[in-house]
Amino acid sequence: MAEPVEVSKTLPERLKEKVENVVADKKPKKEKAPKQPKPPKQPKAPSEKPSKAVNPTPSGPADPTAMFKEGWLAAVRKERPLEEPVVTRFPPEPNGYLHIGHSKAIAINFGFAKFYGGKCNLRYDDTNPEAEEEVYFTAIEDIVRWLGFDPALITYSSDFFDQLYALAEKLITLDGAYVCHCTDEELKDQRGGTDPKHKHERYACRHRDRPIEESLAEFRAMRDGKYRPKEAFLRMKQDLTDGNPQMWDLVAYRVLDKPHHRTGDKWRIYPTYDFTHCLCDSFEGITHSLCTTEFILSRVSYEWLNNKVDVPHKPMQREYGRLNITGTVLSKRKIKKLVDEKIVNGWDDPRLYTLVALRRRGIPPGAILSFVSELGVTTATINIQVKRFEQSVRKYLEMTVPRLMLVLDPIPVIIEDLPDNHYEELENAFGPKDVDMGSHKLPFTRKVYIERDDFREVDSKDFFRMAPGKPVGLLKVPYPVVATSFKKDESTGLVTEIHARFEKPEEGEKVKKPKAYIHWVADAPGHGSPVACEVRVFNPLFKSDNPDAVEPSFMADLNPDSLKVYPNAMAEVGLKEIRERAPWPEEAGEKKDNCGFESVRFQAMRTGYFCLDPDTTGAGGKVVLNRIVSLKEDAGKAA
Ligand code: ATP
Ligand code: MG
Repeated sequence: MAEPVEVSKTLPERLKEKVENVVADKKPKKEKAPKQPKPPKQPKAPSEKPSKAVNPTPSGPADPTAMFKEGWLAAVRKERPLEEPVVTRFPPEPNGYLHIGHSKAIAINFGFAKFYGGKCNLRYDDTNPEAEEEVYFTAIEDIVRWLGFDPALITYSSDFFDQLYALAEKLITLDGAYVCHCTDEELKDQRGGTDPKHKHERYACRHRDRPIEESLAEFRAMRDGKYRPKEAFLRMKQDLTDGNPQMWDLVAYRVLDKPHHRTGDKWRIYPTYDFTHCLCDSFEGITHSLCTTEFILSRVSYEWLNNKVDVPHKPMQREYGRLNITGTVLSKRKIKKLVDEKIVNGWDDPRLYTLVALRRRGIPPGAILSFVSELGVTTATINIQVKRFEQSVRKYLEMTVPRLMLVLDPIPVIIEDLPDNHYEELENAFGPKDVDMGSHKLPFTRKVYIERDDFREVDSKDFFRMAPGKPVGLLKVPYPVVATSFKKDESTGLVTEIHARFEKPEEGEKVKKPKAYIHWVADAPGHGSPVACEVRVFNPLFKSDNPDAVEPSFMADLNPDSLKVYPNAMAEVGLKEIRERAPWPEEAGEKKDNCGFESVRFQAMRTGYFCLDPDTTGAGGKVVLNRIVSLKEDAGKAA
């Protein structure tokens, strides 16, 4: 189990802790260091703005390989000999579910290797047994595969604990590391103090010059259990005169009192990120170690260590800008609170932006990759509104998923011209006009169901759908219908039934085109219509665009209407064939044996994009649908 304290830290808290990196093995986050040295040179990209060149055309999604062909990544490729095969890695810490930001890292690392005919490993960076849990390992691999990537190898930093230990001894022997017993306070003070007004010169710790033999003996004593956590560290002997804090004698090993999920009780000391990452990259033959820009200052310590212990293979670290999504929360601590307080139903609740949630909501993996590619890759951090993401998904689905009719809140309409037993089959194409996805037979009967919203008891000039006396089209039906009367439930005030007749033309005249067409589903139980469904419509979980900034907390920003359930929705019979023919889109790269209910996607005409939810209990059981996105941006708010 993870230590509660690990998951409960906010990003700002973690940023503040940067100074303590020397002792705490937190990966470096965006701290403002005193007198920051110039970051290492980055390959030049044509533009720091999201690249326009790879924007999707109106008729389809972005080319997901566009980001490798030009710009920053193409420049990074050229920095190493072109004949050298590309080897990359995606190195998550198995301490939480991946979120949409991680999809950029996955797309870059796996995509870059794939594009250049190379290999990408999935490496679990499992050097902190305090935060790791088995469930995250499985979930991470699952999501990588769902996104369409097959790791060349699945590795664990812990696979290399023996080699890392040997190199730590070597480093000591080379006078490149020493065992230190300072307290956190002392370490901070050595770095110039914490009070920005009373900074003093950095100074070396009293253990720095102890004899090599003594450090070696003490390091072995650390390994053998002589010390409790925080009583001893192995520190690298770097360069205190360097302006880069990553050169101020970083911690390489610390004592931790936790068994490791893979190595059990074998180790009492664990290597830090700074010690582990560059060496594991080297062991695995990584050529391009691509990470986010918080690590830009770490590039110097990365190269320092690899050079110092003189590993035979030297990878190259380069840094790209993070992808942040606004209008939601991504921090593990915050999502955990939403889950624990039952505001959402688990980590895969479709209102969240974890990748498991996006999958359940029906977002196709291809849409995520095309979104990342559309934004392009540069060194700039990108902050994107969830609305822009949804717009990209809509565009992706528009031409690639089949269409059918779905009524969320049905009212029956009786068409009086038709006899009681009238049964007719109309032809309904699955695809939009210019895309051939085949078609299916659509039952049409005397009784059909329409959307409650599409009827008004009293007509008005600005209303074009069904109202007494007004002709309206039923999609695919040759003649318009006119409502003649309706019944209401006295207690609820709700309309319970509408009567209508066809508006047929006089002999020799053409059918008058109605101002609007509405969707409907026939009542033909003998022919499987309607298909009863529960539909879940997701609206934004938060009211504001920046819940993280709301006082006193993001919890005060919750949208009370983020989930609307339609328990009595009805779909037309085409749903059966759509289920059989899934995954949709057909070309999105989802493998038939590796996708679930969420790959049954369709556009409900006039209503939105939907997919099947895993709560659907199988053939013949309850059908549960999730709304992926609305048809238009504004419709989202109204629904
Ligand atoms: P978080 O704090 O959000 O969990 P992290 O950096 O701790 O993020 P890791 O598990 O270490 O997450 O992430 C694995 C890889 O994904 C790293 O290379 C990291 O740089 C990258 N990554 C994480 N978040 C983002 C993001 N928002 N955009 C792009 N890449 C990211
Ligand atoms: Mg992390």
